[in-house]
Amino acid sequence: MNYRGRFAPSPTGHLHFGSLVAAVASYLDAHHHQGVWLVRIEDLDPPREVPGAADAILRVLESFALHWDESVCYQSQRHEQYHHYLDTLSARNLTYHCQCTRKQLSQYQGHYPNLCRERGLTLAHPAIRLKHLTPLASFEDRVQGTVKHDFTAQAEDFVLRRRDGLFAYQLAVVVDDIEHNISHIVRGADLIDSTFKQAQLYQYLEQPCPAYLHIPLAVTATGSKLSKQNYAPAVAAKEAPKALSQALRFLGQALPEELTNAPCPEQLAWATQHWQPQQIPQQHEIILP
Ligand code: GLU
Repeated sequence: MNYRGRFAPSPTGHLHFGSLVAAVASYLDAHHHQGVWLVRIEDLDPPREVPGAADAILRVLESFALHWDESVCYQSQRHEQYHHYLDTLSARNLTYHCQCTRKQLSQYQGHYPNLCRERGLTLAHPAIRLKHLTPLASFEDRVQGTVKHDFTAQAEDFVLRRRDGLFAYQLAVVVDDIEHNISHIVRGADLIDSTFKQAQLYQYLEQPCPAYLHIPLAVTATGSKLSKQNYAPAVAAKEAPKALSQALRFLGQALPEELTNAPCPEQLAWATQHWQPQQIPQQHEIILP
């Protein structure tokens, strides 16, 4: 199998335990399949970026011996490709201009009711939306099996390029994963909603969809997702072996006793060999110190 996987952090802050788990899982899955593992920095949204975060994330990955196989990809340098794919979708009559402001949309509880789809607008600074004509009802997850969409409302025509000219995450991720021949995506379950959109974008672009594996989220004692917003602590490079064995335990890949404090390369070698995604527990609770 020509396995190519990736870890794609956004440089909006430090690497916390939740993102470490995603990095470790994608690395192990790729190496277990003798595959290639890439790192992509998703620096698509400059206002949300924290200066220095991208480099800090890469240094922390290195301190865990999570070494990537090809040069790091930066989304900020790939606008031409995003333009090209957006043009492809437009040429297939799958996009339209939207002039709705955030304020106008606030009455729809975050769900856009495709107001501009039939308006045929041509605007100087539009948001560009996908005509989401055939929303996916389900996709296959390697561990969870068939994941069904809960259609409570009409399928949303999501944004591909924002009014401020920035490309949307949904488009950029799919373009990069296509261009880098990513065959397997392993990432947090918080992205399941995005997977429905992205898997459909592959179809509109007539490209084969990768295999998906979503791993459960690390949550706080009160049930909220670990994030920079709730002050999830940064993983400390100097305590890498300890944090790595915790991440492996979280993923249901408990190390033999004698390896729990071993250097990261030894832990990773064992975990690569014994990697069993079916053993990832589906419920988690992590208590922040
Ligand atoms: N950049 C996204 C995040 O940090 C992950 C994207 C992905 O894995 O597809 O949540």
